[in-house]
Amino acid sequence: MLATECYKCCGTGHFKMFAHIEGGRCFQCRGTGKSAYRPKGLAPAAAVPARFQSADLRERILSGDLFAMPFAELHACKGLAAADDSLWATWNQRGGERAFEQAAR
Ligand SMILES: [Zn+2]
Repeated sequence: MLATECYKCCGTGHFKMFAHIEGGRCFQCRGTGKSAYRPKGLAPAAAVPARFQSADLRERILSGDLFAMPFAELHACKGLAAADDSLWATWNQRGGERAFEQAAR
């Protein structure tokens, strides 16, 4: 994964039209203007959700970029988090629900 300009806000970190929602902060990059993208040629994570191991998902919940995750991955993470109180707290703390809702749109 390489850091680059956020493709949603073009590196500004904000949307004027969404100023009424969290000050217009870009959800994709969390207002940083930077995002991570997967170089072409690598399989998107969404292509292999069935093979996700719970240890891998747990790691993603703890330190992964939830806002850059495809929906299938977030869905799997949410399922794992919901089964564990402390993991669920971490999931919410890291904005998992927002990332999930955003990806579901
Ligand atoms: Zn952005």
